[in-house]
Amino acid sequence: MPIKKIGIVGAGQMGSGIAHVVALSGFDVAVNDLERDRFDKALSSIDKNLTRQVASGKIDEEEKKRTLARIKFAESFADFADADLVVEAATEEETVKRKIFVALCPYLKPDAIVSTNTSSISITRLAAATDRPEHFIGLHFMNPAPVMELVEMIRGIATDDVTFARTREFVDALGKTVAVSEDFPAFMVNRILLPMINEAVYTLYEGVGSVDAIDTAMRLGAHHPMGPLQLADFIGLDTCLSIMQVLYEGLADSKYRPCPLLVKYVEAGWLGRKTHRGFYDYRGDTPMPTR
Ligand code: NAD
Repeated sequence: MPIKKIGIVGAGQMGSGIAHVVALSGFDVAVNDLERDRFDKALSSIDKNLTRQVASGKIDEEEKKRTLARIKFAESFADFADADLVVEAATEEETVKRKIFVALCPYLKPDAIVSTNTSSISITRLAAATDRPEHFIGLHFMNPAPVMELVEMIRGIATDDVTFARTREFVDALGKTVAVSEDFPAFMVNRILLPMINEAVYTLYEGVGSVDAIDTAMRLGAHHPMGPLQLADFIGLDTCLSIMQVLYEGLADSKYRPCPLLVKYVEAGWLGRKTHRGFYDYRGDTPMPTR
């Protein structure tokens, strides 16, 4: 049975990016969030990003219209009753995700696949919160989802072959490339990327360099397209901290301890771009380093 209808839980940066990609590839998609307002914001950012794609000649105006028409608000999980696949893209907190799966599953078709876009949390453990561990899989889109080519696929201990094959076919239909990872904390991309970001925060914390110096060093000295602190703000500092905590606890190795300065920024509610302040202040015309 091919996948046709998609449900997405969470209309934040990732939920909206995934809705964009999925709808542009011809799938009908319903998006749920805690408040309607978040969906409206997501839809207007998708509109803006599609307009950019029209301007650069990647798609035409008709395709943009058809894409937007495929994206609907799901007021409750009851609106996912006809979904073939649900992608959970809510806040990176295990308790939040577990509660979502418990509430979601009773509304789904028995053969519907449940997936999570978690950046770091155990797929096997999340699967255990559902009524269908065999139809559960990790589907880790990168940010921004419409631009990044990769999707990591992670099987939990119980994920069956049919679920893996159906999901892979879906990812192929989106034009993305798959990298298969074992179910270990933070999988592959974030296992490598986040310790680098955390080290950049330590470099700032210890006064080795300023925000600007550290980012310039890595942009020009290592040819990274973004500096690590710029990237941290882009990912969201709450998400970065959660991933470091999962690595620290999951691998029981002190080399993964989150930098206290990262903790402090999160405690201040300075979460990066999404709250307009993080290692940079985005409230003016140009981002200004906050240290
Ligand atoms: P975000 O903070 O931008 O969005 C999270 C959304 O989830 C919010 O709109 C919030 O209202 C919603 N939400 C929270 N609880 C909910 C609930 N019970 N029901 C419905 N909606 C709920 O976060 P994000 O950056 O989009 O991250 C979402 C997921 O994607 C996380 O698991 C994260 O680890 C993962 N991820 C993030 C990135 C990144 O770069 N930010 C990249 C890949 C994967």
